[in-house]
Amino acid sequence: MRRVYLDHSATTPVRPEVLEAMLPFLKDEAFGNPSTIYSYGREAKKALDEAREKVASLIGARPEEIFFTSGGTEADNLALIGTAAANEKKGRHIITSSIEHHAVLHTAQYLMRHGFKITFLPVTPEGLVRVEDVEEAITDETILISVMHVNNEVGTIQPIKEIGHLARERGIIFHTDAVQSVGKIPVNVDELNVDLLSASSHKIYGPKGVGCLYIRKGTRINPILHGGAQERKRRPGTENMPGIVGFGRAAELAGQELDSEMERLKGLRDKLIDGIMNRIEDVQLNGDREKRVATNANFSFRYVEGESLLLSLDMKGICASSGSACTSGSLDPSHVLLAMGIPHEVAHGSVRMTLGRDNTEADIDYVLEVMPEIVARLRSMSPLYNQR
Ligand SMILES: *Cc1c(COP(=O)(O)O)cnc(C)c1O
Repeated sequence: MRRVYLDHSATTPVRPEVLEAMLPFLKDEAFGNPSTIYSYGREAKKALDEAREKVASLIGARPEEIFFTSGGTEADNLALIGTAAANEKKGRHIITSSIEHHAVLHTAQYLMRHGFKITFLPVTPEGLVRVEDVEEAITDETILISVMHVNNEVGTIQPIKEIGHLARERGIIFHTDAVQSVGKIPVNVDELNVDLLSASSHKIYGPKGVGCLYIRKGTRINPILHGGAQERKRRPGTENMPGIVGFGRAAELAGQELDSEMERLKGLRDKLIDGIMNRIEDVQLNGDREKRVATNANFSFRYVEGESLLLSLDMKGICASSGSACTSGSLDPSHVLLAMGIPHEVAHGSVRMTLGRDNTEADIDYVLEVMPEIVARLRSMSPLYNQR
């Protein structure tokens, strides 16, 4: 059966070039610990430095401002908890949005239980944070603002540059979770006015279990793990060499191919969106139509259960998701769609399709061919649809 993978925001396959770069570090060829002084160690240290340069280059940072972590989740935890711990004498107020990934949302809730005051900003019906709302939420106690660059569920691109400008004027540390923007749109830490930025390897065709936090020089932040002096004492533990080398190679390739690949995917995305909207009734596109990454389409089908739709798509070999991978399996509708003011019953019928390198025009044709039949069949079994 044909298989169409449309869940690239959940994870991506490791590119062959990336695997090739990693292999020596998984074998006895290059197993050294980069903290040691003999040849194996020096070789590892050199590869570590090169990977750091490649990741730094993708986001316009200096290599010494990149701190490797076990992924996007750890980077977000370090950004929030590390900043809170280092700045709590200055104030105990943090501003974030209500549509963040759980790695930020649940970390903010954890800090709330430990005496920090958190503002969860609302969003517009299109899923955008308003800069005016950020400005209004700032108090003398505010030490950190954390707003994601691109939302993982609806693909909206947030006004990071403007929020960063505001934060800098007020002397507040600014973090962005850029896991879904890096490799999809140009990301430059200076242009965006950010002090902290999270990225993850497995969302850009690198291996899972590795990511980084960019920390602008001079930013006050404490480590959250304690141990050795690795990563300039910000993140102890012997480095995940195969992972970091793979992440570096993935970052290098993402930078080289960004423009051409995103132009191509935008064409496929628009074909998918227009095709679904034209072929099926009672469907809405979630998220802003323009301020949106080239890879994301998110629809709500009225009178359809999202989970049933996903199962039917799976039977046709189409891999999609109901929002974030982390919430699939639970029947609660997405916190992002609810924050956008989408009613529960509509949010329940939502499907996210996220495009990537392996997708072709024929994949979209196939989805557009099978989707109307599936939706019609599910609706024919829905009492609500028949009574409408
Ligand atoms: C995937 C994702 C994360 C988590 O990254 P991991 O490397 O899987 O821990 C954080 N934020 C966003 C927006 C994501 O999409």
